[in-house]
Amino acid sequence: MIHPAVLEPGGDAATLLYILSFSLFILGIRRGTHPTTAKQGNLIAAVGMVVAVVTTLLLDGIGNWWLIVLGIAAGTAVGVIASIRVQMTQMPQMVAIYNGVGGGAVALISWSELRHGLSLGTGFELDTLIPILFAVVIGSVSFWGSNIAFAKLQDLIPTRPIALPGQQVLNAFLLAGILVACVVMAIDNDSPSQALFIAVLIAAGLLGNLVVLPIGGADMPVVIALLNAFTGLSAAAAGFALDNVALIVAGTLVGSSGTILTLAMATAMNRSVANILFAGFGGAPSGPAAGGEERPHRSVTAQDAAIALAYADSVVIVPGYGLAVAQAQHAVKEMADELEKRGVEVRYAIHPVAGRMPGHMNVLLAEADVPYDKLVEMDDINPEMPRTDVAVVIGANDVTNPAAKDDPDSPIAGMPIIEVAEAQQVIVIKRSLSPGFAGIDNDLFYLDKTAMLFDDAKKAAQEIASEVTDL
Ligand code: NDP
Repeated sequence: MIHPAVLEPGGDAATLLYILSFSLFILGIRRGTHPTTAKQGNLIAAVGMVVAVVTTLLLDGIGNWWLIVLGIAAGTAVGVIASIRVQMTQMPQMVAIYNGVGGGAVALISWSELRHGLSLGTGFELDTLIPILFAVVIGSVSFWGSNIAFAKLQDLIPTRPIALPGQQVLNAFLLAGILVACVVMAIDNDSPSQALFIAVLIAAGLLGNLVVLPIGGADMPVVIALLNAFTGLSAAAAGFALDNVALIVAGTLVGSSGTILTLAMATAMNRSVANILFAGFGGAPSGPAAGGEERPHRSVTAQDAAIALAYADSVVIVPGYGLAVAQAQHAVKEMADELEKRGVEVRYAIHPVAGRMPGHMNVLLAEADVPYDKLVEMDDINPEMPRTDVAVVIGANDVTNPAAKDDPDSPIAGMPIIEVAEAQQVIVIKRSLSPGFAGIDNDLFYLDKTAMLFDDAKKAAQEIASEVTDL
C-alpha cells in the first residue's frame, strides 16, 4: 500500500525538514561535549532522528506500511529493553552491536538498490553505482567486524588475538579481489552482475571478521570507534545512492566523529591506529593471574587506609574499570565527603582510557554528583603528584602501570599513565593482584610506598568512609 503523495522527494518542504533534522543532530553532538548537557544533547539528536524518519516516510512513493510498522515496533522493543537492562560496563559491546546492525542495514539497502536498478533495466549511472558498491563493502565489513568485537567483549569468544597463519596476505588477497570485482561491476554498469555483487558482500563480511579477530580485547573500544566511522561513511554513500540528503549528512557526522574518537583513543594509548589493527596487542596474561609466583607486597585493612587518608592534606583518587564493575561511585563520593569534612583536599585523576570507553569515569562520577571541578585531566594532575600525600587507586590498573614508562618491551610501553608512584603514599583498592585488561603485572603493587587493600571497591570505600567518621 502506498500513501497519497505528502512530500515531494527533493521538494522544498522535505529539504527544509531534513535541514531541521541535521541541525538538531549537530546541536545534539555539541551539547554532548559536556556532562551537564550530554543528556539533553542525546534527546535533541533523537528528536532530529524522528524528524528525519517521519520526513522520509512521508515522501511520495514510500510503501509497504505494515513492514515499516513491524520494523519500527521490533526496533523500539529491542532498544527499550536494552536501555533498561544493559549495564554501564556492557556499554562498549552494546555500541558494537548497534553500530554493526547499522552497517548491515546499509549493506542490505545497497543490495536492494542494485536489484531495483536491475529490475528497471535502464542500467546505472556511475555516480549511483559507485556509492552502492562503496556502501556494500564498508557496510558488510562493519557488520561482520562489529559482530566479532561484540562477541569478544561479551566473552562469547576468547578476547585474546586470534590469527591464522599468513593472515595479512589472505586479507590483502581478499581486499584486492573485492576491489577488482567492484571495478568489473562499474565497467559493466549497464547490467552489473548480481552474483558478483553477492560475492563482494560475502567477501567483505569475511574480511571484517578476519581483520577484527587478531585484535586483542583491550583494543576493542578503539576498533569499535573505527568501525563506527566506517558505518557512518557507508551510510553517507547509501545517502548518495538514494539521493537522501539527511542520510548523507548523518552518515558524514558519524564518520567524522568516529574518526576523531578513534584518533583520540589511539593518542591516549600512544599507539598508531595501524599498530592497534595489526600488532595483536593484549595476548596471554602475565603476572600472578597467569600462575606466576606472587611477589612480596604490603597489604592493609580499611582502618589503616582510613587513618592514612584522614591525616593527609591532599588526596588524589584514581578511578578505573573496577570502580565501574563494583558500582562504587556513590560510596567513593561518600568517602571523599567524609575526608573533606576533615579538611582534606580531595581530587580525582581522570585518565582518558580508564574504564572501557572514553568518558567512562566522568559519567560514573557525574552520576554520584561529584563536582566537575574536582575531576582533573591526566596531564594536569601528573605534575601535582609529588605534592600529593596519598594517591588512592580504586579499581584501576593498566592506567597506573609504571611499565608503560619504564619498560620499552612492555605491551603498553609509551601509553601515558597517571603517575601515582610519584605520590608520597599509594593505596590500591582491588580484589587481588590480578592484571587489568592488558593482561600484564603491575610493578606499582610491589613498591615500598604502596599499600594494597584487597576488597571489592564499593565495600572498601564504604568501610573507609565509616572508619573516617569514627576517628
Ligand atoms: P584495568 O582493566 O587495567 O584494571 C581494572 C582492575 O579493576 C582489575 O585489575 C581488577 O582487579 C579490578 N577490579 C575488577 N572488579 C573490581 C571490583 N569489584 N572491585 C575492585 N576492583 C575491581 O582498568 P583501567 O581502568 O586501569 O584501564 C583500562 C584498560 O582498558 C586499559 O588497558 C586501556 O588501554 C583499555 N582500554 C580502554 C579504553 C577506553 O576507552 N576507556 C579503550 C581501549 C582500551 P581485581 O580482579 O584484582 O579486582
